[in-house]
Amino acid sequence: MDKAFILRQLDTALATCSSLTVLEHIKADFLGKKGCVTELLKQLRALPLDERPLAGQKINELKQVVLERMDSARNALEQMLVADALQRDTIDVSLPGRSVESGSHHPVSLATAKMVAFFTAAGFMVMQGPEIEDDYHNFTALNVPEHHPARAMHDTFYVDSPFDVNLLLRTHTSSVQIRALETQTVPLRVITPGRVYRCDSDLTHTPMFHQLEGLVIDKTSTFADLKGLLLAFMENFFNKRCEIRLRPSYFPFTEPSAEVDVRCVLCDGAGCRVCKHTGWLEVLGCGMVHPSVLETAGIDTDAYSGFAFGLGIDRFAMLAYQIPDLRMMFDNDIRFLRQFS
Ligand SMILES: [Zn+2]
Repeated sequence: MDKAFILRQLDTALATCSSLTVLEHIKADFLGKKGCVTELLKQLRALPLDERPLAGQKINELKQVVLERMDSARNALEQMLVADALQRDTIDVSLPGRSVESGSHHPVSLATAKMVAFFTAAGFMVMQGPEIEDDYHNFTALNVPEHHPARAMHDTFYVDSPFDVNLLLRTHTSSVQIRALETQTVPLRVITPGRVYRCDSDLTHTPMFHQLEGLVIDKTSTFADLKGLLLAFMENFFNKRCEIRLRPSYFPFTEPSAEVDVRCVLCDGAGCRVCKHTGWLEVLGCGMVHPSVLETAGIDTDAYSGFAFGLGIDRFAMLAYQIPDLRMMFDNDIRFLRQFS
């Protein structure tokens, strides 16, 4: 191999080299242990002794040229790679930004959070209970014994039970009140937000909906405290002055019991479709806890009394956000849900 041939080979290889790895391979091909220049040096031994110095000198010159060309090729390549990287990483600051899509809270979650914030600030603890409940906690302990007509008012989903107790999907969160009375000591202030189930479905009913139940047991709790608390709650929730009225009602687990109406928050009492032109909205039920409920829980009814209230979170959310159909809450239509972000 003559010098000119080797350099032509080198130039061809360097001209198409596009990475430092390939450059290393080229270097090995020419100057490595089995490289062509190295081979030439090995062949020196075959020459007569007097010819070796001159031939050796020429090979060293060739090696020097190869090294120089490789160095300049390396420099050119490195500059090209840096330029490429700069080109790739260049940011066009005039382009519109890419926004991060964030989800939104469900209106029921928003309403629940607002309620929980109000009641925890008022000293209530938050308690959860099982959604598959037994007959005792859902009915019996709430003063609704078997064959009581109030059981028929709740269209109950019963669940196949492997035990000798009836299991059901809880029809109200009042069951958690009983669990609170069993596990906590009095005085007690507790709210129990959660899902409840009834076999019912139309414009204003869904088989699953959300309730928030509140319970206060204390030596000094009165009906006036109950009314004051509920008024403060409504004004906080609807962000406006509210007027409420209490109508006598019946619940098995409270005595006396009342339905609470609020002056329509949409028309301020003038009359509209939502309040059916009565000017009032029926929003919750409440009452003083029935002594037999307290006695069942082993609480001294001479020393303690209590009040309880229960409301539909979905109904409050519908009023606050002016949602016309309860079923929209659970259709998961993204166009509906996006409005709450
Ligand atoms: Zn109205």
